[in-house]
Amino acid sequence: MKILVTGGAGFLGSHLCERLIQEKHEVICLDNFFTGTKKNIESLMDCKNFEFMRHDVIDPFKLEVDQIYNLACPASPIQYQINPIKTIKTSVMGAINCLGLAKRVQAKVFQASTSEVYGDPLESPQSEQYWGNANPIGQRACYDEGKRCAETLFFDYYRQNGVAIRVARIFNTYGPKMLLDDGRVITNFIHQALSNKPILINGDGRQTRSFCYVSDMIGGMIAFMDQEKHVGPLNLGSGDEISVLELAQLIIQLSNSNSEIQFTPPLEDDPCQRKPDLQLAQSLIDWNPQTSLVEGLKYTMKTIQKEYKIDQ
Ligand code: NAD
Repeated sequence: MKILVTGGAGFLGSHLCERLIQEKHEVICLDNFFTGTKKNIESLMDCKNFEFMRHDVIDPFKLEVDQIYNLACPASPIQYQINPIKTIKTSVMGAINCLGLAKRVQAKVFQASTSEVYGDPLESPQSEQYWGNANPIGQRACYDEGKRCAETLFFDYYRQNGVAIRVARIFNTYGPKMLLDDGRVITNFIHQALSNKPILINGDGRQTRSFCYVSDMIGGMIAFMDQEKHVGPLNLGSGDEISVLELAQLIIQLSNSNSEIQFTPPLEDDPCQRKPDLQLAQSLIDWNPQTSLVEGLKYTMKTIQKEYKIDQ
C-alpha cells in the first residue's frame, strides 16, 4: 500500500515509518521539522520505498495514497505551549486537510488522538465512553481541545461523508528517538539521572502515569488501522500505573545514579491520574503491551547515553 504518515519525522512517526517500510509498504513522510528531526528518518532516506515531503499540515496537500496516519502535532507540553495558536491550528486544520484528502482519494485515515482528551479524569481507569474533564481555557487547552476538536471532525467526516476513520487515544509512550529535555517525564528523568543532577518532580509526585514502550504502541496502531470492525475511539497504552515519584526512584536505581529527588511547584492542569481501560483493545485487536517498564527503560537509557554521549 501507499501510506502517508504526517509527523513522520517525530518520535512515534519515525518508528511507524520504519515498521511500515519493513512491511514493504510505500511510505510518504510529511513533516515540517518543528519537533521532528532529519536524524530520526536518516536510516530510511536511501530506501526506494520511502519519500520525504517537507510541508506543514496546516496547508492543504494532494497525494494519491491508500492510508493516512495523522501524527503531526507537537506532543510535549513545552513544545506545544511555545506557540499555542499554531498547536491548535495544527490539530484542527491538519485534521481537516487529512480528512479532505481521505475523502477525495478514498483512503483510510488514522488520527493520533491522546489520553489528554480525558483532561484531569474523575474516573479511573479511563474507558473510551468517558467524556473527560478538560479545561477549555487553560495553558494545556491548545493541545487537549485541539485534539478533542480533531476527534469531532473525524467523526463528522465519518457520519457525513462515509470516510473510513480510525481514532486512537494514545497514552504516554516512550522509547528511543524522543527529544531530550522536551518536558516529557521519562526523558527528563533519564537525562537528570545519567548526569547525576537532581531529579525534578512537579508537585508531590503522587500523580500517576502508565508508560507504553514504543514498539508495542506501533504494533497496536497498525493492528487497529488494519481491522475493519471498529472506527474508534480506542485506547492504546500500558495498563501498569506508576506514580511519578516511583518512576523517579526506579530510574535512579536502574542507572545507578547519585541524583537526589527535588520537588518543584505543580504544573497547571497536570492530571492526577492516567490509566487506560484496555478491554476494547484486548477484545478488538488482541493487543497487550509486551515490554515491561524496566526492560523498556533500560533500553531507552542505553540509546540516550549513546546518542547524546552522556558520561556518568
Ligand atoms: P513528536 O513531537 O516527536 O512528533 C510530532 C511530529 O509532528 C514532529 O515530527 C513534528 O515536526 C511534526 N509536526 C508538528 N507540527 C507540524 C505541522 N504543523 N506540520 C507538519 N508536521 C508537524 O511527538 P510524538 O510523541 O511522536 O507524537 C506523535 C503524535 O502522537 C502526536 O499527534 C501526539 O499528539 C500523539 N500522541 C503521542 C503520545 C506520546 O506519548 N508520544 C501520547 C498521546 C498522543
